[in-house]
Amino acid sequence: PGKSDLVIVYHRLPYEEFIEDGERKRRRPKSPNGIIPTLLSFFADGKPGSWVAWAIDAPGLGEFEVHTEVDVQHYPKLVAARVALTEDEVEIFYKRFSKEAFWPTLHTFWERAIFNESHWEVFLEVNRRFAESAAAEAADNAVVWIHDYNLWMVPAYLRELRPDVTIAFFHHTYFPSADVFNVLPWRRQIVGSLLQCNYIGFHIPRQAENFVDVARGVMPVKISKRVNCAPRFLTYGCAVGLEEMTTEIEVAERHIGLGAHPVGLDIGRVERALEDPAQKERIAALREELDGVRMVLAVERLDFTKGILEKLQAFEHLLEENPELLEKVTLITICVPAAAGMKIYDDLQAQIEQTVGRINGRFAHIGWTPVQFFFRAVPFEQLVAYYAAADVMWITPLRDGLNLVAKEYVATQGLTRGCGVLVLSEFAGAAAELRGPILTNPHDPHELVTTCYLALTMSRDEARRRLAEAFNSVCYYDIALWGNEFMAAVRAHAPLQGTQA
Ligand code: UDP
Repeated sequence: PGKSDLVIVYHRLPYEEFIEDGERKRRRPKSPNGIIPTLLSFFADGKPGSWVAWAIDAPGLGEFEVHTEVDVQHYPKLVAARVALTEDEVEIFYKRFSKEAFWPTLHTFWERAIFNESHWEVFLEVNRRFAESAAAEAADNAVVWIHDYNLWMVPAYLRELRPDVTIAFFHHTYFPSADVFNVLPWRRQIVGSLLQCNYIGFHIPRQAENFVDVARGVMPVKISKRVNCAPRFLTYGCAVGLEEMTTEIEVAERHIGLGAHPVGLDIGRVERALEDPAQKERIAALREELDGVRMVLAVERLDFTKGILEKLQAFEHLLEENPELLEKVTLITICVPAAAGMKIYDDLQAQIEQTVGRINGRFAHIGWTPVQFFFRAVPFEQLVAYYAAADVMWITPLRDGLNLVAKEYVATQGLTRGCGVLVLSEFAGAAAELRGPILTNPHDPHELVTTCYLALTMSRDEARRRLAEAFNSVCYYDIALWGNEFMAAVRAHAPLQGTQA
């Protein structure tokens, strides 16, 4: 066995590694959502650990070194254990197969999924190598924490190599109902692998419950523990509908813990951005530029799950049906482009550009552009300035595991004006957690329009009341609590030392 009591298995390294002029270089991590700093915090104060992630190995790059330090100053005993992948393997395992087969199915768009057996073989091979690396790093009875669906098959390989370790898994994306999940040709292998874990975390109770149904489709499952979901989660609504959730199942005499742990924010990071004079100036400049025009903001990755086109069409109808809003409201969208060369995203981008052009062509006046659409990633600090300036945040995914942008908007508004209105899709995990937002069904074009109108016309008092309610929960259930609660739950489900799982 290796030396680490805690092994993180995440597809990405905790620092950014890139190839330039045929050389391997690194820079500070630019993680957008703060999970990487939280995971790193477990290794502060000199605690030893390993972080398993891939690194590109290519001819001409020099000898591949498996171990590198991460940050000697802050995490002196944390090592990165790099899994060597070729560019072709990354292309197939990550950019193609995970995005083409699993991503659409997980988000309930299984008709869009492409199932390719030879890609599955590459997926297995890559997952096997991640498991071998984790097995080599883990000390006796260590905790190995695996992240997300890209690494679904790691628990199966790891359990074979290391029966002693505690295997924890966190699912960062949506987890669909059995009706949808069972479409996957490799569902038995995937579920069989996940059932080798000691603990599996999801964002919200519904996703954990969906997993129980999926497991039942593969082998007999006995439910051994259930808990009340209130008051942490809404016990009604389209994203939830659960008063109780399963927190432990028994399968083939193994006990597997399940939990709902919606990822939280690092509020300090939002505070620091707001204190930065450059962002203060940016907020003032945005307000001045708007000159009294109200700002509806959307922030999302370019993806069919995010409902971008549906939202643009709704905005067109909003202007059509409410001429009093002309010249009074602007929709600003910040849309992070997808990696180049993915046809499915190219088509969507072309449709979006066409729709934005049509809306602006129909309604624009001198001095007023109805839709400002930015196809680029904006650094987090600048996003916060947009959140602070926005009157309405319009988040309309057709399906989303959680949606951190919603929480970031709530945090920013809570720390500033406190009267911004959040319109949130009922199909985002965050809708099961946050009280206060106006919920909307993005599959219903009419409701998309009416809820946006409601947000624009809401009284300040009601807006403040709703925002304050959401802000309380975003502040309390922050990212540090997320990490600590998850680890506490994992340790509570660790097998007794000396026994085999
Ligand atoms: N984000 C960013 N720059 C951008 C757009 C988004 O840093 O231009 C960040 C945003 O702050 C959030 C994350 O990307 O933390 C998106 O997370 P979310 O859960 O909303 O959606 P995902 O992209 O993970 O589906």
